Amino acid sequence: MVLKQQMENHIPTNQEIAIKLSRYGLKITPQRVAVLGALIKLCHHPSAEDIFREVVQVIPGLSQATVYNTLDVLVQRGIASKIATSTGVMRYDLIEQPHHHLFDETNSRIEDYYDPELDQILKMYFSKKKIKGFVPLEIKLHVIGAFRDNVV
Ligand SMILES: [Zn+2]
Repeated sequence: MVLKQQMENHIPTNQEIAIKLSRYGLKITPQRVAVLGALIKLCHHPSAEDIFREVVQVIPGLSQATVYNTLDVLVQRGIASKIATSTGVMRYDLIEQPHHHLFDETNSRIEDYYDPELDQILKMYFSKKKIKGFVPLEIKLHVIGAFRDNVV
């Protein structure tokens, strides 16, 4: 089990971001570079609002609608995913390695949770269970709880 906590991300250059966009078949625009850059920089599952606040520092005057539409494009293309939280606020995540989420409702903190053993158990469970008329393709858990940093 690995809890990716406070891991500092490599801040990519605009050129690296542009390469990533074109790898996903997207035209490179300053807005897309800024939005994807903000999503990478704010690595703790930012809300659309957080991303907007970050992007306007880079491109002042950019509308909220443009930022939100750009986020939708990134989600449609499979670069990012949306996380629905129980507090009703959508959060965004880069799609890299599949992982689960640990969510603390009291402070809206979301941490990535990697656990190959759990993945294996879930996969085996659902292949045995056979839900009628449904084929699971990906199993992601969203675990609601409370972080108590002083407890091991
Ligand atoms: Zn995540």
